[in-house]
Parts: sequence; C-alpha cells; structure tokens
Amino acid sequence: MTLRMGLSRTMVKLFFLGLGIFPLAAQSDAALEARIDAIMAKMELVDKVGEMTQLTIDMVSVGEPYRVAEPHRIDMEKLRRVLVEYRVGSILNVGGHAYTREHWHEVIRAIQDVATKEKPTGIPVLYGIDAIHGANYTMGATLFPQQIGLAATWNPGLAYEMGRITAYETRSCGIPWTFSPVLDNGRNPLWPRFWETFGEDVYLAAEMGEAITRGYQGNAISDPHRVAACLKHFMGYGIPLSGKDRTPAYIPDRLLREVVMPPFQRAMEAGAATVMICSGEINGIPVHADKRILTDILRGEMGFQGVAVSDWEDIRYLYTRHRVAADYKEAIKLSINAGVDMSMVPTDLEFPRLLRELVEEGQVPMARIDEAVRRILRLKLQLGLFENAYPPQGEDPLFASEGHATASRMAAAESITLLKNEKSLLPLAKTSRLLVTGPTANSLNYLNGGWTGTWQGDDSKYNTPGKQTVLDALRAAAGAEQITYVPGATISSLLDVKAAVAAAAGADVIVACLGEATYTEKPGDIDDLDLPLAQQELVKALAATGKPLVLVLAQGRPRIIREIEPLAGAIVMTYLPGNEGAAALSDILYGEVNPSGKLPFTYPRYSNDLVTYDHKAAESFSRDFSFNAFNPQYPFGFGLSYTRFGYESLNLSSDTLRADGVLLVSITVTNGGEADGMEVVQLYTTDEVASVSPSVRRLRAFEKVFIGAGDSAEVIFELRPSDLAFVGQDNRWVTEPGWFAISIGGEKARFYYKGK
Ligand code: BGC
Repeated sequence: MTLRMGLSRTMVKLFFLGLGIFPLAAQSDAALEARIDAIMAKMELVDKVGEMTQLTIDMVSVGEPYRVAEPHRIDMEKLRRVLVEYRVGSILNVGGHAYTREHWHEVIRAIQDVATKEKPTGIPVLYGIDAIHGANYTMGATLFPQQIGLAATWNPGLAYEMGRITAYETRSCGIPWTFSPVLDNGRNPLWPRFWETFGEDVYLAAEMGEAITRGYQGNAISDPHRVAACLKHFMGYGIPLSGKDRTPAYIPDRLLREVVMPPFQRAMEAGAATVMICSGEINGIPVHADKRILTDILRGEMGFQGVAVSDWEDIRYLYTRHRVAADYKEAIKLSINAGVDMSMVPTDLEFPRLLRELVEEGQVPMARIDEAVRRILRLKLQLGLFENAYPPQGEDPLFASEGHATASRMAAAESITLLKNEKSLLPLAKTSRLLVTGPTANSLNYLNGGWTGTWQGDDSKYNTPGKQTVLDALRAAAGAEQITYVPGATISSLLDVKAAVAAAAGADVIVACLGEATYTEKPGDIDDLDLPLAQQELVKALAATGKPLVLVLAQGRPRIIREIEPLAGAIVMTYLPGNEGAAALSDILYGEVNPSGKLPFTYPRYSNDLVTYDHKAAESFSRDFSFNAFNPQYPFGFGLSYTRFGYESLNLSSDTLRADGVLLVSITVTNGGEADGMEVVQLYTTDEVASVSPSVRRLRAFEKVFIGAGDSAEVIFELRPSDLAFVGQDNRWVTEPGWFAISIGGEKARFYYKGK
C-alpha cells in the first residue's frame, strides 16, 4: 500500500486549522487604543516608571532577597510599599518558589488585591514565570521534555501541545505570562543553555518555535487557559565565542539575519506578545544598550509591537559587568533609550526613582516612556487582566491530568534517539536479566534538568511523588527481580565499580545510564565537553566483562563519548526527557515503542571540532586535501529505528524553477522491516555556487510520517525560491540563479533556478 502524504506546509497549516488556531488578531484596534489613552491620561510619571519596573517575588515576601523565609508568606507591608508607593507593574518568579496551586492562588490574590484596590491607578500586576517545560514551579504539574528533546521529535504538533498544556497549567495558578520559548540557536554545545534551545538548525527551530508559541497563546491571550509567550533571548545569546554563559558573541550582520533572527521573526508573525533581551554582547555592544538591535531591527525591520523586557539585572550589569556605563543611572538611560520597555530589576527600588529623574532632566524623552507604557498596558488589556486579574475558580479540571501526562510521554517517546544498535541488541526481552548502573539511573532530577522546582533543578524535594526514574520504570516494566541496580559512579567520581562489575556477571545485559547533573546559566559552564572521565572509566570496566552494553545518555548537550562508543552495542540519547521520560525510555528499550527521534544537532566526536552540519565547504577540507574533514560522532538529523526505511523515486515536477514558481519534490519512503515506525523525511538543498560561500547543505523542509511495516508513503514537498534564499553581500535576502542540488534520505536530484 502506498500512502500519499499531503504537501508539507499545507499539512502543518491544516493541523493548526483543525485545532481552530489562526494567527492572532492584529495587536491594535481602535477600541483597545482608546482604552489605553484613557488609562494613560490618568497616569503620572511615577505610575509610568512603576509600570516599567519588574521585581522578584522575594521583594514582597517575608525574609530577604535570595533568603526568603519558609514557609513562604507574602509580606503585606513590603507589598504595599512596592505597589502603592512605587507603583510597580510586574513581579516575576524565581527558583525555589515552587508552590501548590492553592498557594499560588493566595499569592496572586494578595498581589492583585493590593494592585487593584490600593494602588492609585488600580492597574493589575503582570506576574511572569519561567514555565519552560511545563508549569515547572507548580507542585505536581505536568513536566515535559526540555526544548532540545522536543526538537528531537521533529514534530511541531507535539511542541504545540506542550505549549498548550503548559499554558493551561500555568494560567490555572493565576499566572498569565511565561518566559518561554528560547529561540536562541543551539550552535555551540559547550553553552550551558544549549538544552533550552531547539538545536542548531534555523529552520527546525523556527518550525518548533512557531508551534510552541501558538500553543502558549492560542487564538487570544485573553483565553483563561492561555498565556503570553516571551521569546528569548533577543538576540545572539546562543552563540558566545567561548561557549561560556554570558560571554561575548561576534556575529556578522549576515549571520544575524540568516541564522539568528528567523526563529524570532516566525514566532513574532505568529503573534508572540513579548520578547526578553539577550544578556550578552554582540561585537562589543551589550544588547541591552544596543539601539540598533532593540529599535532599528526589532521594531523597524521585524515589525515587533509587543513588550521588550530586560533579562535579570541586565541594566545594572551595563555598568557593573560590561562597563559601558559609568553608573547605574547612565546604564538606565542607555537601556531605556535603546528600547527596553520593562526592566527585570529585580531586587532594588532605585530603578524607578532614577528613571524618573532621567525623564525630569530630559535625558530620557517622555515619548519613550509613553511608548513603553502603552505596550505594557496593551499586554495587560489583551490578557484580560483589567477584567479579571484573579486566579480561576475551579475551571481547570485537567491540571496534571492523565491526558496531560500522556502528551508528555508521547513527546518523550518521539524525542528519544537511538544512536547505535549493533546486531539488534535492542529491543530487550523482558526476560533478560539487567544490570542497571550509572549516575543517571536513579534520579528524576537528572531527567528533568534545570528550571524544575529550583533554578538549577537540583532539589529533589520538588519532585512529583510517583514519577519514575529509569530504574523505577524498568523495574515496573520487567519485574523488580529482573533488575539489579548498582550505582557505579556519580556524575564525576567513581563509586562501587567493583560491585558493578561483579553484578554484571549475573546479568544478560548491562544498561549504563550516563550523562550530566542539572544546570543552567553560569553554574553550567564547563571547560571540557568530554563526558566526565569517571563515567567513562565505569563503562570501560563494565565492557571488560564482555556482557552486552547499552548506554543511556541523559544529558543536555552532547558530551564526547568517542572512546567508549565502540564498547557499547547500543546507545540511546534521551536528552532531558522530563517526568514521563523514564517510562518512555522503558517503552523503547523493551520495544513497545519504535524510536523515531532524530538529533537536532551535530554530535561532535572531538571537543575541539565543533562544526555544525550546515558548515561551509572549506570547513570540510582536510589535511589529506580531500573534503572529508567533517567527521562528527553522529550527524545532525540522525536517529535509528527498529525497522528499515528505504528511499526511492525522488522526483521533481520540473528541472527548472522560476521566481514565481513552485517546485514539487516527491519521494517514496518504504518501511522494509517488521515493525511499524515513524520516519522524519528531511529535505536538504545545496546551492552549488553563490556570491556568499554557501553551506554544504541546508535543511529546507521535513515531514514526520508514520509508515506501517511493509508499507510505503509518498511524501511531497513544495519548494519556492524563498526557501532557497540566503543573505547576500548587501545583507539582504536573495536567491541567485544557478544550480541547486536536493537530497532526501540519500537520494539526490538537481534543478536550475532561473530567476525572473
Ligand atoms: C534568565 C532568563 C530567565 C530570567 C528570569 C535569567 O537569568 O537568563 O532566561 O527568564 O532569569 O528567571
């Protein structure tokens, strides 16, 4: 049987239409603007600078910033000072404030009571939170795979679902704004926020980013089950030269436009309500002080109309870290004049006071303040906060429901990527006796990663009872008597290796669970991409037993495994698969689910050879003068299956394409194995000659298809000239006439682009 798949783009559109998702209504209509005018007419300068101020919840809690008292209580005196005296417009969450929904309701109610009843303007507070893989600061919420895993599903529908469910569970706490998604490029695997991205490819990131944004926001953010998204971190944060967090990036304009901006642009066109500014610097200019980026490009070129919020303390850092301002006041002037609308201050009240002075002294124009405040008020109005700023009353029966957990498990199952499977070692029989070992075998935190309960995600007291570790899931699936567990090593040191080796003697197969501890931002900086040596030693000792060895990698970035890779019969990458990740992994190890994840990045073989798949030809040129230098451990887009997919009959509707034309590209994919499976059909193009040295190949389209054992599917893609474009010498997008090559699953064809 041959299934004929619809056109790729059309299918995605149909998916959204099917769910009733249309582009968000234009952000401004006359009635809304008139309401903003009326509110602003009553506001004084103190109210306006207050609206532009965002403080952490610590500032209104009993205790001190970074040391709040437990159990958590709102300090009403501080709250009144902040809201009534300083007219602060926004409060944000920080790690460690992870509460039950009931407590969230109390917190939000207290804040909105004071804001709407005691603050002179009565303007409700906008509460923002990092709900980045589910409502990860709410006890018991559904936790999804982190973004890098979501990207490995190559299934935008799952990204949409993750956004929709996260929005539902976040809003059910009374919180209408999430600081997600991350649309930075994951092009440097050293970077400790690599796992927060959708990986190295700009097209894949744009597809996933648009889908998750639509999931968060739905048709309208006034919907009581949706939230405002915040695209971060605009822009260039993901490409620090050193790979360390918040270190300088050097990005030519061409790369900014071709690689950095498109995922943001797509999500903005889908209606994203807010952006967060990048904490780093590009070409020597901290982005928070860069008027060209924040105004000329963001507003002028990209047409973004929503709110631009600073990142954590970043205005002050212009002075204390980047040294482009002599003092805090000058930093505020630079940043607000550059185009920041709201400052994530987050722990002082100097910001509104100094900003007020700057306006009174004529150093920050009133027009700039009005522009920022209009945007903030528009967002609050669009969210419906003026109608109802309070948490919902029992309208959220699906919070942490079975259905939500199933969606998370599906995402994890489709993300997990089979990297090696010699002699079909996997799937395992449930009758096999397993030795389960390694530092990530019995930790739920290591499956969830950072931003889970706490900033670093390292405190198990926030874990949801009943959620499984890998060990739990395997025991539940095969019976505890089949599984022996010996830890063997922590993330970075050896433990009871001898005991692990001894236990291997009684096992049929060893499952070694390796990877990383939890981390994000600065604490996640590393000096070496190698998998910590203790874990490699453990693997070597286990391999010496001669027992078949499966490596399970739970890690947010590709740690180098070159030396131990040959020792393993099978290798499975789980990324950071979330609360249902262990169950999904067990399904894959025991063959209940056929793996379909594909790497959303290039898995490097050497720490000093970090080259992305879309490199230039000159980067493939090797010391033997051939073009074989590009030699990663596993390529971008790679992932095995328990079945065999074959590609044939690559056909183009024409051998030429014109400026106003469309090229139809079809390919037949056959499942020649015994198991049903899903395959990600990936279309790459190569611009054979161009005026700016072209990438060896670029992903231009993909489609994830289900094909039953023995069946075939014909997949048809539409290519337009704009799909082949690059940013030319004049920094504008162009598609130059000439030959292009297409490749899909090893099949190749060529066509000529004629231009007009
Ligand atoms: C991070 C942001 C985050 C913010 C608020 C910053 O340190 O860079 O990604 O949204 O904190 O928690």
